[in-house]
Amino acid sequence: SNRIMLGPLVAAIDQGTSSTRFLVFNAKTAELLSHHQVEIKQSFPKEGWVEEDPKEILQSVYECMDRTCEKMTQLNIDISNIKAVGVTNQRETTLVWDKETGEPLYNAIVFFKVPMKSKFKFWLKTGYFSPPPDFLFQTEIYQNIEKNCAYQATLHKTLLAKLNNISYFSCFIQHKTGLPISTYFSAVKLRWLMDNVEKVHEAVLSHRAMFGTVDSWLIWSLTGGKKGGVHCTDVTNASRTMLFNIHTMDWDPELCKYVQICIHTFLYESFWTNAYFISSCPHCHVWENFCLGDQSAALVGQMCFKDGQAKNTYGTGCFLHIPVMSDHGLLTTVAYKLGRDKPACYALEGSVAIAGAVVPWLKNNLGIIQTSTELEQLAADVGTSYGCYFVPAFSGLYAPYWEPSARGIICGLTQFTNRSHLAFAALEAVCFQTREILDAMNQDSGIHLSQLQVDGGMTSNRLLMQLQADILCIPVVKPSMPETTALGAAMAAGAAEGVSVWSLNPEDLTEVTSEKFEPQINPEESELRYARWKKAVQRAMNWET
Ligand code: ADP
Repeated sequence: SNRIMLGPLVAAIDQGTSSTRFLVFNAKTAELLSHHQVEIKQSFPKEGWVEEDPKEILQSVYECMDRTCEKMTQLNIDISNIKAVGVTNQRETTLVWDKETGEPLYNAIVFFKVPMKSKFKFWLKTGYFSPPPDFLFQTEIYQNIEKNCAYQATLHKTLLAKLNNISYFSCFIQHKTGLPISTYFSAVKLRWLMDNVEKVHEAVLSHRAMFGTVDSWLIWSLTGGKKGGVHCTDVTNASRTMLFNIHTMDWDPELCKYVQICIHTFLYESFWTNAYFISSCPHCHVWENFCLGDQSAALVGQMCFKDGQAKNTYGTGCFLHIPVMSDHGLLTTVAYKLGRDKPACYALEGSVAIAGAVVPWLKNNLGIIQTSTELEQLAADVGTSYGCYFVPAFSGLYAPYWEPSARGIICGLTQFTNRSHLAFAALEAVCFQTREILDAMNQDSGIHLSQLQVDGGMTSNRLLMQLQADILCIPVVKPSMPETTALGAAMAAGAAEGVSVWSLNPEDLTEVTSEKFEPQINPEESELRYARWKKAVQRAMNWET
């Protein structure tokens, strides 16, 4: 048959919270040639908990690879042209499995919550992350923290005010990891698994337990699993475990000590690997060259490398990133490190817990929409929230508040308010939350953006994009090819393998085609709405205390 000649191809496994995808791109043009997507089931065993089945996650990857390869064969594209595959994944989600049987020892924990009232006692009393007794007397550390805490201090004003005696300890952790203390990060989930799941406890004692984020689980399984799979991760995923020191770029012995996790039991040495994939599809034997956390892959896919750029990814939650040079003195997150010998690049990160997640809530819990596209139509019917504000703080608020005891609130209701206004308020909530993070980052960094680059599933909602431009008073730019996360992972893998002509050098970036949403309301109106939102947030705060 006539095979289409396309030259080298690059691919990505994109394993997200709500779905898995496998996508194949032309390495020269970045054109998306074929892809397949499989939804992932989530279980909600308790309020505030979200879990997924590790085997289903793995199976979905196989299925996506196989189905994509079939589609490509039907299109007469030679699969053997795939020269590199990148892995990008939901970060923080925590797994433990048995290295001898290859069996997961518990579900993958996405979100988890400890009883709210005991939250901080939990940290201190259980000894999880308990500071050493002489901690506060280590003045050198203390001064260092003070210097470096300007950013987090604003992020955690409330938290710091409340927690005098452990506030410095939380700063200490932030100084090392760039992360606020939160049960979101893997170390806490891992500690909980070790203490509460008998199978995990036993496997740890008999040195059979393997810990990892989703990337590690996939790569270990895809490279042979119990028959000698590679146990590895990359620095962007490692940096979300709360056990990784973003300055030394290695696991931190002190942090491991505080959380009582023995480095040698669990943590692997390999942050970089070139491993051979064994796909169930006989044609799909390809080299894996790169692994990047989803947010890092999106930054790379957006080519968001320069000072003054920022990207926001609208998925289940929202993740806003501004690349920064490391000498800003701000505590930051590891954005990417595009090679063993390449320097680490850092970014400011702000996250919103509930963004796209309002959609299933409106659908399943309130029944006011049937599909996510209906939400846009419903909101567009009225074009205003009519003074209704919806703060979806279902499990507390993330940046810039980091307030675990906040709860959702809908306010400003009148007899006139209907479901369309509520739909509109739900979309606006995503935009306001994004603005709050940008404001906090502007204040601390002095970085003022001229536009915001966007991606993620929710950006298919054009009304949302327009609202975002209106509320930020700057243009919002959306690439025409929406799969930036996968593209980033594929590009990084292709660059590592030397097949991608995409340059990762900020100096010679090519423009990607995109769509621009310009602000359409005047700044005064925008400020007024934003001020009301802030009032609504105040009402949502401290609900559970
Ligand atoms: P993740 O990577 O977190 O799995 P995606 O980037 O795939 O997320 O985006 C999925 C999210 O986007 C879901 O929460 C979904 O509700 C939301 N979403 C998808 N389409 C729309 C739409 N048209 N309007 C609003 N939200 C949407």
